[in-house]
Amino acid sequence: MSEKGRVVGRFAPSPSGRMHLGNLWSCLLAWLAARSQGGGVVLRLEDLDPDRCRVEYCDQVMRDLEWLGLTWEGEVVYQSRRTQAYTQAFQELEEQGLIYPCYCTRAQRLAASAPHRSDGLSVYDGRCRRLSPQERQKLAWTRTPAWRAEVPDREVVFQDLLQGEYRENLSRDCGDFILRRSDGVYAYQLAVVVDDAFMGVNQVVRGSDLLSSTPRQLWLQERLGLPHPQYGHVPLLLAPDGRRLAKRDRDLELGQLQQHYSAPQLVGRLAYGAGLLDRPEAITPEELVPLFTWDKLPREDLVLQ
Ligand code: GLU
Repeated sequence: MSEKGRVVGRFAPSPSGRMHLGNLWSCLLAWLAARSQGGGVVLRLEDLDPDRCRVEYCDQVMRDLEWLGLTWEGEVVYQSRRTQAYTQAFQELEEQGLIYPCYCTRAQRLAASAPHRSDGLSVYDGRCRRLSPQERQKLAWTRTPAWRAEVPDREVVFQDLLQGEYRENLSRDCGDFILRRSDGVYAYQLAVVVDDAFMGVNQVVRGSDLLSSTPRQLWLQERLGLPHPQYGHVPLLLAPDGRRLAKRDRDLELGQLQQHYSAPQLVGRLAYGAGLLDRPEAITPEELVPLFTWDKLPREDLVLQ
């Protein structure tokens, strides 16, 4: 998909509701980062979870990006249509002996959505890795397992475009993680790695709450023989009480914002927050391209007042 050396960024929204200010903020920065280097952005709708995602939200996400002036290139990729590719990657990992069945319950439900740090996911203690074949057989009578990747006791280090060096020990800081839920839905971590490579993405710009997912993704890329993109994790926009914005913050949802702001006004406010403008004046994404540099961006999360 990509010409050699050209930056290919991406939008990867989850269509589980209307986009809110936080989603727009990371999409704008991903777009500017790619465009300011002469590149472009592809669009992937992360509609893996059939319980949370709907077709009408997918259409709405695209209309909202267009409204804002954030364009993308090529075919839109829907994760719900990519099961075959995930199965293939899953089998490759299985052949490497890296996967085991997990009969624990709660994590299975959560694994298909991107694990934002504030969700407070804890390190899995590896309980099901240590089950004997007899114990597994017994549990399999009553339960369908989820499937976990067995991570090595290894430090993964990478250079983030904004956060600098980031390191994590896979087994100590992250633990064995879910690749496939018990209902057959593939997990975010696997899908994202397979799709970034498939779409030729070489620059991932996203919220810093996904920073701690990156070591897992780098490790999966290595196991699957896929290239590593560059990563830039941008600060989050937080609700006035310090929470990460959620779909329930209706007043910061695009539908509401559109009643008060034109697209250039909204872009101008976001650009001001990003340190790209001295004041929140109306501006188009296109006009912002020459103003974007990584060193202007804040490192700390921004609390909305
Ligand atoms: N779909 C994820 C979200 O909306 C983003 C995943 C990613 O950027 O890797 O939170």
